[in-house]
Amino acid sequence: MVISSHYWLINAHIPQGLISPASFDRFTAPNLAQNLTKEGLVCCDLEIKAGKIVAIYESGHAPTRDNYNSILSWDLSWDLKRGIVLPCFVDMHTHLDKGHIWERTPNPDGTFNSALKAVASDRQFTNYEDLYRRMEFGLKSSYAQGTRAIRTHIDCPGDQLETSLKVFKDLQIAWSDRLILQLVCLVNLEEYIGQRGEVLADRMAELGGMLGGVPFINPNLETQLDRLFSLATARNLDLDLHVDENDDPNSQTLKAIAKTALRHNFKGRIVCGHCCSLSVQNQTDVEETLELVKAAGIGIVSLPMCNLYLQDRQALRTPRWRGITLVHEIKQKGIPMAIASDNVRDPFFGFGNHDGLEVFAMAVKIGHLDTPYSDWIRAITTTPAKLMGLDSNYISVGASADLVIFKARYFSELLSRPQCDRHILRNGIAIDTTLPDYAELD
Ligand SMILES: [Zn+2]
Repeated sequence: MVISSHYWLINAHIPQGLISPASFDRFTAPNLAQNLTKEGLVCCDLEIKAGKIVAIYESGHAPTRDNYNSILSWDLSWDLKRGIVLPCFVDMHTHLDKGHIWERTPNPDGTFNSALKAVASDRQFTNYEDLYRRMEFGLKSSYAQGTRAIRTHIDCPGDQLETSLKVFKDLQIAWSDRLILQLVCLVNLEEYIGQRGEVLADRMAELGGMLGGVPFINPNLETQLDRLFSLATARNLDLDLHVDENDDPNSQTLKAIAKTALRHNFKGRIVCGHCCSLSVQNQTDVEETLELVKAAGIGIVSLPMCNLYLQDRQALRTPRWRGITLVHEIKQKGIPMAIASDNVRDPFFGFGNHDGLEVFAMAVKIGHLDTPYSDWIRAITTTPAKLMGLDSNYISVGASADLVIFKARYFSELLSRPQCDRHILRNGIAIDTTLPDYAELD
């Protein structure tokens, strides 16, 4: 393990789409093809100094090998033997406040409605200490596996709102040197009507959060969306909504959101999560909605593991539908398409481990993101970073050396094992990758 503050990572396989275009131009050699695999992985040497990436070369194409020697001894290099290197993960849609309640509050039949009821009944157990313990367990798990930024939705029932927000704020401060944490309030859109809407929006503005919620098709939808966008505009808040998480082709709130954004000439960022029903709508509706989504500058985040779990679930019947939105069509349209983990070990998803690699691996298999792999790895790294307003998260000269290093050399190797032996660099220094003990939740 390299512990110097100045060293080289050599023979690193990096997906071409994760190297910043500017850095890629700088090091591209005439014989790039020799170093580019069929899967678009480039073999690179990275110079790390004082926590930052200060040079990137194609392997073997540093100005000369003597040049490496002139900088420092080869003893201070770590030969990755073509192991894949990624920037740290960005998990842009989670529910840390619900996480890890499965044992005390399981979902008896795995359906969406039962999940709603179960989560409501779990509130009897929720207090500051319980929330802090479970949410921090999620942060520890995420950090140890290579995540650098997390956005969490937080349930906001009136009697629990301030406790949940205090836990979030305390954790955001306690983890500020390791994780970027973002906050979205999660409510029914009807709650924004009236004084409560002002209170919620003001609290989000004070905490640097954003407005979220779950729009449903109903006679007041347009009024509710107008109110939401007005509250956000007045405070310069971004929006992140749970959208059409069902199999009803008539559930087209995504279209209504896009129309509202255009009508308001909304300047903030908008992210819509799930959008499952898009994949059961007719082609005309899909085309119209995606045109509007693109025009409104909306980004989409798919939650494949949770969708696979909840959608098309009926007792004693085999599911026929994978539940995800039209990830390929959305991406082909030029709309930002991210993936994220969503719920972990709660009534909405009985499994999960806060692992960006697992999310990507599952998404590849559920959504056929492997023929070709193209630049899909951006969906859990650079694309969510952009949608969250962070730095680009490319592997680039000048960027912090926040990297995930695998022994797997190719995508098939990467996505076939859990890669528990990965190394994580944060600011160029290897961190402890031990996962928290489940006993901490007792
Ligand atoms: Zn969610």
